[in-house]
Amino acid sequence: MSLPVIVQVAVFLPLTKTFSYLWPFGEQCPPSPGLLLRVPFGSRSVFGFLLRAGKDGRGDGLKAVTEIVDGEPLFPLPMAAFFERVAHYYHHPIGEVISTALPPSIFAHLSKDPAPEPIYFAEDGTAEPTGRKQRQILEWLRRHGATPRRQLTSQFAGAAPVLKRLVAMGMVSREDGRKGWTESQGAGREESIPPRLTPEQEEVLNILRPTLVHDSFAPFLLHGVTGSGKTEVYLRAAEEARRLGKKILILVPEIALTPQLVERFRNRLGGEEKGMAVLHSGLSGGERRKAWKGVMEKRIDLVIGARSSVFAPFDRLGLVIVDEEHESGYKQSEGFRYNARDLALWRAQIDGATVILGSATPSLSTFHRARQVKIGYLPLRCRVLSRPLPEVVLVDLSRRSLQGALSPELVTALGDNLKRGEQSLLLLNRRGFSPFLLCHDCGTVIRCPRCEISLTYYRRRSLLRCHYCDTVAEPPDTCPQCRGSNLKPCGAGTERLEEELAALFPDARLARMDSDSMTRRDAYPEMVKRMRTGEVDILVGTQMVAKGHDFARVTLVGVIDADATLFLPDFRSAERAFSLLTQVSGRAGRGVLPGRVLIQTRNPSHYVFGSVIGHDYESFFDQESDFRRDMGYPPFGHLVNIVVSGEKDATVEESVSRFADWLQSAAKEVEVLGPAPCLLSRLRGKRRFQILLKSASRPPLHRLLGLLEEGAPRPPTGVKIMVDVDPLDMF
Ligand code: ADP
Ligand code: ZN
Repeated sequence: MSLPVIVQVAVFLPLTKTFSYLWPFGEQCPPSPGLLLRVPFGSRSVFGFLLRAGKDGRGDGLKAVTEIVDGEPLFPLPMAAFFERVAHYYHHPIGEVISTALPPSIFAHLSKDPAPEPIYFAEDGTAEPTGRKQRQILEWLRRHGATPRRQLTSQFAGAAPVLKRLVAMGMVSREDGRKGWTESQGAGREESIPPRLTPEQEEVLNILRPTLVHDSFAPFLLHGVTGSGKTEVYLRAAEEARRLGKKILILVPEIALTPQLVERFRNRLGGEEKGMAVLHSGLSGGERRKAWKGVMEKRIDLVIGARSSVFAPFDRLGLVIVDEEHESGYKQSEGFRYNARDLALWRAQIDGATVILGSATPSLSTFHRARQVKIGYLPLRCRVLSRPLPEVVLVDLSRRSLQGALSPELVTALGDNLKRGEQSLLLLNRRGFSPFLLCHDCGTVIRCPRCEISLTYYRRRSLLRCHYCDTVAEPPDTCPQCRGSNLKPCGAGTERLEEELAALFPDARLARMDSDSMTRRDAYPEMVKRMRTGEVDILVGTQMVAKGHDFARVTLVGVIDADATLFLPDFRSAERAFSLLTQVSGRAGRGVLPGRVLIQTRNPSHYVFGSVIGHDYESFFDQESDFRRDMGYPPFGHLVNIVVSGEKDATVEESVSRFADWLQSAAKEVEVLGPAPCLLSRLRGKRRFQILLKSASRPPLHRLLGLLEEGAPRPPTGVKIMVDVDPLDMF
């Protein structure tokens, strides 16, 4: 008698374990990994994915699989093991891991939901809409994944027009969504004739070409200063990989913000007809399924996309490129909190692929690995065509008070640039007119009733808005505290800066780039085009202006308030500031004309500035490493952040302290810090506390999280526990 076939199934329930079932379909119908099944669970019937199968004598008492929902596996064999490893590492339910990985519409499509209604899902990306309802729905979709329309309209009154708007802005897609941006919108044609490589590019490719031939894991950091031609290296490596018949995955932080890079790949590698798929927000559910199937069936050999593309179902990858590897957009910040850069490395390790992590400002952890020779180091120290890096100077604002946001030095430089007909770019990392309204009689600041942080003032639209929950209020005429009439906008945001510039330079053509002005789907590529064709003299914006652009005519970059990023209460604030300042500086002088950068600060002696001025990543790394090492912070230690939240203050406080006690008693070789109120101690009306787990190595952290799943006290209803492994921001 032959032994029964038993299969391991990841069910679509919030459970970390997989479950065993009998395979009742016999030999003719082999149990392949990746099949979508229906299985009995308790008294219910649920969906699940087949991960593994084997013959086993211990089939007694097991229930049998009810149905094979679709005969075609949805992912290849090696990915089943990958999913299990990922779920285990992030301590996240495996069913949710897989449903996050799949194109949202695939599951909805296959599950043959009787209602042929549209399905909505959130796009990758960190952009935030402005309306409160828009935020609520987007957040819900990010958390829950693909959702049928009916469910959304019953959950949120008046959801239909809001959904329409979110789709138009490219933040949400629907199953039968319209086609997205076409090739012509990629802002500017790119030569399809490759340039002659610089000696440095040549050297780098001389290392990459032979490693591509081998089928072994070969990770590299491509550390190239801004304008050093990293993209050209990606293109050549991809061409080579393709020539060798290898599969290629290219990750970018946000596809909508990288039209130029996508366009260059399309021109050089032959686009969609040649087996390339670009996963972007304009694709409909059907197109996504097609791309997924195309990869499964080996018709597609090159995928470019944002973080979720790391799950593209290649059976075996040959080359993985992670552009701007330091970007926080690779970390999913809700639900299943994975980091696509880290997962890209894992996949490459499993598949024996070459990996290129590219950046001008690598994350500390990546550079640390390069120093330890765990990954190869490929430097590009010069800009292409021997163009100089821009000259960076500080404008010391300490003991000075300015009329507006601009120092006389910056005003003069802007005026000179205008006269010469060259473009300028100004970075101010704050939206709105001013970050708060302050009562000059009693010092009261108008705050959000739900989040307790100051409300941003928008003068043009005359409203106050919370940047966390989107609560909108009318600006009061008198102070709610002392009834005085001395309420004044304090500090400057991009809107105010734009007004100041308009008054100073009435003839200049101004434009603004921030998430308030970039809400339309085409707004971003249009702005990129206007910059490239020289229709803008001064571009004002938030960190969006710092990202990857290649505008040849920008010769002046001004940073209005460097201190705003530098002094955020987060241990990574110096790293973020260094990266932002270097990246934005890197937008200057990329063409034939040399560039200049003026950085306004009240703390000119901070060590970050020395490294930015000297274009010296390593000096920054060394100083920052000393601090991280002393504190046991990454990359010299490992963290898990646990946030406990809920509506009722007392219940949350009580359960977080009980929970922390439990962690304290269970922890071995793990430091349990807190509980402490989160920096955003109240968010969208919920009280929030955090507990930070810190350890010199990972295994003790994973052991503790394993115990947590099994034996921690259950939180009372209404209290939520969120676990974030390798957290990036801890607000
Ligand atoms: P990075 O990503 O390193 O900042 P890019 O890849 O955007 O730099 O390249 C900067 C500019 O230099 C682009 O306009 C690109 O077309 C051009 N470029 C790249 N390599 C070469 C080369 N070998 N010769 C001439 N121009 C080049
Ligand atoms: Zn709020």
